Amino acid sequence: MRIIMLGPPGAGKGTQSKTLASELNLPHISTGDILRKNVAEDSELGRQAKDFMIKGALVPDELVTSMLLKRFAQPDTKAGFILDGYPRNLSQAKMLDSMLVQMHMEIDLVAYLDTSEAVIIQRLSGRLVCSKCQANFHATNMPPKQDMICDNCGAGLYQRPDDKEETIRKRLQVYEQDSTPVIKYYEARGKLFRVNADGSARSVLDKIIDRIKAYHDSLEV
Ligand code: AMP
Repeated sequence: MRIIMLGPPGAGKGTQSKTLASELNLPHISTGDILRKNVAEDSELGRQAKDFMIKGALVPDELVTSMLLKRFAQPDTKAGFILDGYPRNLSQAKMLDSMLVQMHMEIDLVAYLDTSEAVIIQRLSGRLVCSKCQANFHATNMPPKQDMICDNCGAGLYQRPDDKEETIRKRLQVYEQDSTPVIKYYEARGKLFRVNADGSARSVLDKIIDRIKAYHDSLEV
């Protein structure tokens, strides 16, 4: 099963993708996580991507796409994946299709997480991320047991530099501009379903899982 998670920053794509991936036993591929790891390791890719990321701008398509191609070449993606953070614009959606065609694969479903701007700002400005395992917490909605320490691995938590309110607004602007054609692209192919993502993480996940089950059942008829 190959699923894309779409939605504005702060819609809960990361949280939903991680849980969904573990429930479906599929790898979670987050382009943002891979880029942040490269920045932390100060790799060549990380150095090229860093300035774009800090400003809340998109990293050039060629860099992200070749990074993704390498990830798809790993054997754990054979059974499928949950793709989070890609495609961000129409040209990436088309590049993804050509990558998949070469691998004789196609996307099964695209989940679009619909969220209001007020919820987005509240979620992102309080988000805390583990510096080691990338687990997500929230200063008020989901605080860690110990202040600024990851419940899962004990490493320190930090606020992403692009989660400052000013940068959040910039990211939302970029998102608005680029995402509409992507949504239309998958809608036209009958792949996209919308989920209201303002509710609790579990209720949103349940809605997504219901849609996946319905899709699965339709394949068996
Ligand atoms: P995310 O964790 O998905 O919010 O991504 C964080 C940042 O990484 C974005 O603001 C971009 O700078 C960069 N990024 C992640 N995915 C992509 C992508 N598909 N194309 C370009 N830039 C990306």
